[in-house]
Amino acid sequence: MRKRLIMGIGSGFAIASAIAALYLAMAQVAFLSTAHATETPEVSPTLARERDTYYPNSEDLAKDEMRVIACGTGMPTTRAAQAAACFLVELGNGDKFLFDIGSGSAERISSLQIPYNYLDKVFIGHLHTDHFGALHDLFIGGALMGRNVPLRVWGPSGATPELGTAYALARMQEMLTWDLAGRAGNVDFRGYVMDVTEFDFKGVNQVVYEENGVTIRSFPAIHSIDGSVSYSLEWNGLKFVFSSDTYPNKWFDKYARNADLLIHECFIAVPDLVSKMGFTPESALLVGTQVHTAPEAFGKVMSAVKPRMAVAYHFFKDYDTTPSVYERIRKTYDGPLSLAEDYMVWNVTKDDIRVRLAEVDHHTWAPPLAAPAEPPSLEDRKPVEEKLGVSMEFSDFTKSGFWDVDDVLRPIYEEASKVQGREFPYPEK
Ligand SMILES: [Zn+2]
Ligand SMILES: [Zn+2]
Repeated sequence: MRKRLIMGIGSGFAIASAIAALYLAMAQVAFLSTAHATETPEVSPTLARERDTYYPNSEDLAKDEMRVIACGTGMPTTRAAQAAACFLVELGNGDKFLFDIGSGSAERISSLQIPYNYLDKVFIGHLHTDHFGALHDLFIGGALMGRNVPLRVWGPSGATPELGTAYALARMQEMLTWDLAGRAGNVDFRGYVMDVTEFDFKGVNQVVYEENGVTIRSFPAIHSIDGSVSYSLEWNGLKFVFSSDTYPNKWFDKYARNADLLIHECFIAVPDLVSKMGFTPESALLVGTQVHTAPEAFGKVMSAVKPRMAVAYHFFKDYDTTPSVYERIRKTYDGPLSLAEDYMVWNVTKDDIRVRLAEVDHHTWAPPLAAPAEPPSLEDRKPVEEKLGVSMEFSDFTKSGFWDVDDVLRPIYEEASKVQGREFPYPEK
């Protein structure tokens, strides 16, 4: 198999540039020599060539490999091209973690066709909707498509209990009272459970997760108000860092060092905030430089922290906005850089970081179950009924509205009984 050239890899830009120049020279020599080559040609009319696209569910993950996939890289106002912040980290030991789950990202997650039992760990950096607005989609939709274990969620405290993760997610589950009550007794209900861990946002490099050789730490971020954090994940000698949203800060400078893959917010350039988003100059300056990390400041952080690969996200990446973000970053940083977009994929090992885009199926169904499903049980209704003090049975009022279509539905039960070889009694109304 041919070796491919991978752009932007190396511990320093100077080394990367030197290597790139060497490769270029080698490629030119190779080009000249292949003009008269008599060996087996690399192009064939019948044999498939290696492709430079990631197709989900088509590549094994090596035991020592980390794969990171951008499931959202944009803004609170989601658009077809970009969901809001969400990054999936997959490890060769089988563990998977979601860092932030912003609005619109559940569709991207679904496109990856990963059994939902494996997508049961979410780490939220802060409680803006562009960082947790799709959590209820994964909670409900993931359970419906096969998650039969609780969804585990971690997130920071705030200045008061009302500003913390536990408060937000308890209210989110309250918001879902009708949704959950309506599903109890109709589906395998084991996945409709959320296990929330709130930790101190002031914790400095504190361990918030340690299982199966994976250590996840949080450190304070500075963004909008108190209660934002950044995360690091360490496993098998590899380090992943995710800023969520933050202004450049001393904790990031200290605890993000030695990262292999480092994902940090990088906001839209101030002039584009004015011209393309309709911000007043006053607001653009505040939001674009003080609340978020401006591209010039992003570059400064990366030049200090020096990751093997820096990833910038949190801007609308278009043909006319990307150059300004890139040029402003390059004023202050000349190392390895990815400007993230949705479905960008990084395969990280100790020797290599390969950057590609994924091509996904749009009409996905449920991925296979990682553990067998159980039939629905009316027992699941009891806690709901006790809590609400009302039966989940339809009222006499609603019952009076039923059409009688039993004559066409009863055969469906008979068909299922015949195919499955056991009796499914028709529910009497
Ligand atoms: Zn935010
Ligand atoms: Zn944000």
